[in-house]
Amino acid sequence: MHEILLHNTLSNQLEPLEPLHPGEIRMYTCGPTVYDFAHIGNFRTFVFQDILRRFLRLRGYKMNHVMNLTDVDDRIIQNAAAEKVNIRDYTEKYVQAFLKDMNALSLEMPEKMVRATDHIDDMVSLIERLQQKTYTYSSEGSIYYRIAKFPSYGKLSHIDMAGIQAGARVDVDRYEKADARDFALWKAPKPGEQFWETAIGAGRPGWHIECSAMSMKYLGDTLDIHTGGVDLAFPHHENEIAQSEAATGKQFVKIWLHAEHLMVEGEKMSKSLGNFYTLRDLFAKGYKPSTIRFLLLSVPYRRQLNFTMDGLQQAASSVERLRNFVSRIETGSFPAGGGTVADARVDNAYDAFDQALSDDLNTAQALAAVFDLVRDINTAIDRGEFRQSNVPVVLTAVRRFDQVLAVLDDNDDEKLAALGYGQKQAGPAETEVEALVSQRQQARRARNFKRADEIREQLAANGIILEDLKDGGVRWKRK
Ligand code: AMP
Ligand code: ZN
Repeated sequence: MHEILLHNTLSNQLEPLEPLHPGEIRMYTCGPTVYDFAHIGNFRTFVFQDILRRFLRLRGYKMNHVMNLTDVDDRIIQNAAAEKVNIRDYTEKYVQAFLKDMNALSLEMPEKMVRATDHIDDMVSLIERLQQKTYTYSSEGSIYYRIAKFPSYGKLSHIDMAGIQAGARVDVDRYEKADARDFALWKAPKPGEQFWETAIGAGRPGWHIECSAMSMKYLGDTLDIHTGGVDLAFPHHENEIAQSEAATGKQFVKIWLHAEHLMVEGEKMSKSLGNFYTLRDLFAKGYKPSTIRFLLLSVPYRRQLNFTMDGLQQAASSVERLRNFVSRIETGSFPAGGGTVADARVDNAYDAFDQALSDDLNTAQALAAVFDLVRDINTAIDRGEFRQSNVPVVLTAVRRFDQVLAVLDDNDDEKLAALGYGQKQAGPAETEVEALVSQRQQARRARNFKRADEIREQLAANGIILEDLKDGGVRWKRK
């Protein structure tokens, strides 16, 4: 086995993984902000984290991995206030959708999933500790972090602090490096927005304090690994360091890992640019969960991944190839006896796979190791060199690789059905829709437009859209 090296954003270097508690990895992942469905850019980062934890588990580590659900931040507060519902009601549907999406993508459940709104007390205590150490000041009911008092501010994102004005403040949770300023730990209530009554006053937490409080509560003052997408390094993770290290006086995180973005035509996939696909968009187009997982893991996490439909097609055929290979080995009949050629190939593949992932999670290289094995064994079979006794050796190897890749099980249809796609559609059955469509046609022919409209509305409420054709016919589809 190879030494595991990871690229630490803090040092900008590859570093060996040396857990603080032998045999155990304490890792924190910034989870989704549950103000909407996650898009596949978000899932690129979550798949990277899943590959990491699966690989570490394969290497025998016990994971102690915490992921949060950011269920209070600027966007959530605003959206919930606009819909006049409380935060919990507003976010619940997106939390449930996220959990289902995780399952569809075969993302392992972290040891703990925690919600920010269940940890307001912990955030308040942490802010009180910072107050005692005079890292804070108040202004108009909000509490700010004084970054001038934390000299190593900027060490993660390597920003130049020279031009930073002491006392200048920023109130929004997400901002650019050029806006590096004192940030809000606690925000005063605004009219119409939800707030909490606490020992430090009425209001709500800033986004950054959430992750400092929750990570340290469950994982201790110093974490082995903290992960997120590159856009979180500044200001979010920089501010987490400032908060946590000021409070404890200890190093907060040993290794920071950041996944590069999923791009669409040269731009980051994001809600604000409108160039995004959710998983559900792609399922509706007929793509399988395993295809999307494969595509997202196929490019090493520190390289940008350019998303294209072509890429999806290639991913689909790669998964197909792997599944066909396994079925060929499982169902084929091969000459009895042994043969060391295939065994040697398997040993090489184990080594190459481990070497690739140990090298800062080089998934492209790891896949090359797997597909080299597939090609070599296929050739051996074609030449009649593959023997019965090689079967379990090869199958064990491929299954072991799949403990990390997780694309082999042919359960896409079940997963899609669970989400209401595929054969078992959500909503009314086809015969039911057809019956209503023909009733509506009859009503129209009888010039009973009121009834026809009622049926159209009834179908729409069940996710069925009708299209009236020029020839008087009608076409329908599910939303
Ligand atoms: P958010 O829900 O905005 O807090 O983001 C959840 C995770 O997705 C964070 O780790 C982000 O850094 C990450 N993320 C957002 N956009 C992308 C993208 N286009 N590619 C990869 N990761 C992303
Ligand atoms: Zn976070």
